[in-house]
Amino acid sequence: MKKHVVFIGAPGSGKGTQAKKLMDDFGFQHLSTGDLLRKEIGKHTDLGQEVKSVLDKGELVSDELMIKLLLANCCPEKESYIFDGYPRNKTQAISLEEDVLQGAELKAVYFSLNDELLVERLANRRICRECSSIYNLKTHPPAQAGICDQCGAKALYQREDDHEEVIRHRLGVFHSKVRLMLDYYSEKGLLIEIDGAMKVEAVYQQIIAGIEGKY
Ligand code: AMP
Repeated sequence: MKKHVVFIGAPGSGKGTQAKKLMDDFGFQHLSTGDLLRKEIGKHTDLGQEVKSVLDKGELVSDELMIKLLLANCCPEKESYIFDGYPRNKTQAISLEEDVLQGAELKAVYFSLNDELLVERLANRRICRECSSIYNLKTHPPAQAGICDQCGAKALYQREDDHEEVIRHRLGVFHSKVRLMLDYYSEKGLLIEIDGAMKVEAVYQQIIAGIEGKY
């Protein structure tokens, strides 16, 4: 049976960056529910419009829609997944195990980080529309403004919800739901807590040690 990892962390805590590394080194599939939702918005359907209005406000999409989206986009008996951005609350955590994974092994990695650092990171985050590489204008800027070092596309952009007011709202939403979910994983002995303020490579080593030790 395949093994899976859940990444729990506030927006900007480094989940996407670490997921990319684990994917490259260990062959995990990266499943970001935020990316799935943004793809839905890009299709300009009625559902996409509805989803956009929720994302623009920094609110959460309903649990019912999320589980449908997840079931339609993963195949956990064939691939090992990093679930990035899902679950966001305890109800989703239970759905993931009961409806999606159905007994497959799971570990939860929590990236802990203080809010001021998160706001700073998100406000400076730029993403490549073509290859999804992530930059930070202060700590990891592209060599040429607006151009992706990885794929060369002139496609770096700032997410609509990465502006300070929305960021602070998203952080509030995150904190209000996360405690119960962490307690849930901790009681099951599945939780690995990482200091998300460390450098990318140090965070990565902690994740690997945590995951390997726990399986
Ligand atoms: P992210 O890219 O993970 O920061 O997600 C961006 C936005 O997508 C969030 O602010 C939510 O509006 C929505 N979203 C992503 N994942 C979920 C989820 N598991 N449940 C509800 N809403 C979600």
